[in-house]
Amino acid sequence: SGCLYIVSTPIGNLADMTERALGVLSQVDLIACEDTRHTQRLLNHFTISNKTISLHDHNEHQRQDYFVQLLQEGKSIALVSDAGTPLISDPGFHIVKHLREHQLNVVAVPGACAAISALSVAGLPTDRFTFEGFLPSKSGARQKTLANLAHEERTMVFYDAPRRAIDTVEDIVSVLGGDRQVVMARELTKTFETVHSDSAQNLLAWLAEDPNQLKGEMVLIIEGKEKDDKAISPEIASTLEILLEELP
Ligand code: SAM
Repeated sequence: SGCLYIVSTPIGNLADMTERALGVLSQVDLIACEDTRHTQRLLNHFTISNKTISLHDHNEHQRQDYFVQLLQEGKSIALVSDAGTPLISDPGFHIVKHLREHQLNVVAVPGACAAISALSVAGLPTDRFTFEGFLPSKSGARQKTLANLAHEERTMVFYDAPRRAIDTVEDIVSVLGGDRQVVMARELTKTFETVHSDSAQNLLAWLAEDPNQLKGEMVLIIEGKEKDDKAISPEIASTLEILLEELP
């Protein structure tokens, strides 16, 4: 049977397109794209003419059986998103799950990913990290998300819109404290690429001074909570509490 290729595309700099991605995109029978017009521009740039079909959150379920049929006929499909690696805060999960359940081939053609690129230059621990996807856009929900991560010791990676950066960093200061190290990686691989690392408190002041930092696209990385070896875990604390109540 055929194969679904999960093809990464650049996150800004078109020179990050891989040789293998170009080969796969020109050879497959069909290119499934998050946005066909967006991908058409990429294909035009590399003078690839091939058939495209849309695949987004709203029609992913609908397309499943069609894709199974094509692969069973021996056809190959490439999946691309607007930028970076498909499925990473982008469509594709349902289709990949469905094809795997049908024992069909799904093959990665790796390349750019904003989260991993940001992490690789942030200077925060990378031995363990957690990818948290998009932060909620409303402050209440965002504070709740951050509060749930208050004890997270791993480096935390988020996608967020720079125009909300001040509000987001304000929430980080109020929920996690002003001393937490935060790295803002903006416009990676593009002309105005900026990677700025500071305490949440200082980052806030820096952002307030320069409105240019509120433009484009960004990844936000927050240092994990410092390990406190002497601290008592919440489970042990509540057990102790119960035991203490039993004491005469
Ligand atoms: N699948 C993509 C990937 O692999 O990176 C991510 C798609 S998600 C819909 C788009 C988000 O990724 C943006 O809102 C931003 O947070 C981040 N992003 C994409 N390109 C970026 C860039 N060049 N610099 C910084 N962040 C970027």
